[in-house]
Amino acid sequence: MIKVGVLALQGAVREHIQSLEACGVEAVAIKHKEELKDVDGLILPGGESTTMRRLIDKYDFMDSLKEFAREGKPMFGTCAGLILLAKNIVGYSEPHLGVMDVTVERNSFGRQVDSFEADLAVKDVAGGFPAVFIRAPHIVEAGENVEILSKHDGRIVLAREGQFLGCSFHPELTDDHRLTAYFVEMVKEAKSQKQAV
Ligand code: GLN
Repeated sequence: MIKVGVLALQGAVREHIQSLEACGVEAVAIKHKEELKDVDGLILPGGESTTMRRLIDKYDFMDSLKEFAREGKPMFGTCAGLILLAKNIVGYSEPHLGVMDVTVERNSFGRQVDSFEADLAVKDVAGGFPAVFIRAPHIVEAGENVEILSKHDGRIVLAREGQFLGCSFHPELTDDHRLTAYFVEMVKEAKSQKQAV
């Protein structure tokens, strides 16, 4: 059995937990850094990345999150969570966790259209995947080991680099749990590989 955590400092935490439970796994809200030891994978939810960063520093989470990444455990950043994972952020000199080899731009789908829904084709997962975008970032550039899993309007909105999965949108806000299930599979695989070593 695996257990997946959702970083619970800010943002759409409960919806992610419900989506994980719908995929049949145990899900926990992570409010203290010590709780990271108990989970096999972690979702960094959407919200507001600068606020989330402030809370990460306030509750002394940064080193534990980086350690979690170093251990090879899967991490899934959605929207603001993707910004937290990215190695580069357009207009900023420093990243937050800086673990996934992508450059992201914040709020990149236009000021007038703050939120919208689109049907995406997601490689290996789904056609017609409903994606909710809310003041969403996109991936401007991806390193050579990054697999691009979906684009919207020619912009990369979902990508994977090994243990890291990142998307621009909010997969937890609809009843379609296929992307959460994809991440759950990543967590199961990583755990079984670890046990096999
Ligand atoms: N625009 C937000 C940010 O830059 C992200 C929006 C979201 O997570 N829905 O952090």
